[in-house]
Amino acid sequence: MTIEIDAGALRGRPLPDPAGGSKEARGSALVIAGSVEVPGAAILAGTAALRAGAGKLQMSIAAGTAPHAALAVPEALVVRLPEGDDGHVDHGRAAAVLLPRTERAAAVLIGAGMASGEPTKALTAALLAGPAEAPFLLDAASIDGLCENGDLVRARAGRVVLTPHAGEMARCLGCERDAVEADPLGAARQAADQLGAVVVMKGAETWIVDPAGETWHYAGGGAGLATSGSGDVLAGIIVGLLARGTTPAEAAAWGVFLHGEAGRRLGESCGPIGFLARELPGEVPGLMRDVA
Ligand code: AMP
Ligand code: MG
Repeated sequence: MTIEIDAGALRGRPLPDPAGGSKEARGSALVIAGSVEVPGAAILAGTAALRAGAGKLQMSIAAGTAPHAALAVPEALVVRLPEGDDGHVDHGRAAAVLLPRTERAAAVLIGAGMASGEPTKALTAALLAGPAEAPFLLDAASIDGLCENGDLVRARAGRVVLTPHAGEMARCLGCERDAVEADPLGAARQAADQLGAVVVMKGAETWIVDPAGETWHYAGGGAGLATSGSGDVLAGIIVGLLARGTTPAEAAAWGVFLHGEAGRRLGESCGPIGFLARELPGEVPGLMRDVA
């Protein structure tokens, strides 16, 4: 059965009640994202996680960029990642810095704005293989080639969410982008089945496949969401909801709705295209209140 995502469907699956809770109770989101070229991905995802109600935020970033990121998100604890001689993050040493933090986090995001290639794959694998119990959200470059390396995801038994667009899904499955675009739901089902993970197949329409059974569909939002950094915000919203203790499938469904509705509201107030990804997170608290 496919559930059409709207306020009515989500009202039946309320988010954890924040009343009386502490920031510890709403959980710490660990955002491992961005790169020297795209530090903004960490800033966008981190801000979105807080706007979705995470109690605390830790954001990792290359050591040389860290002071700038810390000023851009003064609410965050910024984890400085060691750099190699080329000024880019040394992913091997970064894994050692990050592993203990994944154990203390309530939810972990990896990949938004990170460079495609072996170092990101190896870092993702090292963190997935670690002892952390928290749910993981894998985005962008951390999804590359994942289906050939599916054991690490499967071992996390339904506590992983993937947020690929069509190109990333093709690199995950090892097929052509055209094939994903021709049958996005089929691709999402295949990845969910192979990995035992909740798959959010993004596009003008978004499909969510929960390997435990349900399929969700969302077609709102509008073309203004097709803009740089938009997916980083979606990943941040979902990881913020995970940090609060929302189940992976419901965090994905709520996250897609909040992101899409934020786009729809900005489309009305600002114009259908041209609003910025950084403007999306500010819409999220009011949307959560209005749906509840
Ligand atoms: P990314 O490609 O990672 O930046 O993610 C883009 C985000 O915008 C995803 O959440 C997509 O589902 C959404 N999106 C992209 N194009 C459209 C569109 N034409 N209409 C509605 N949402 C879109
Ligand atoms: Mg993206």
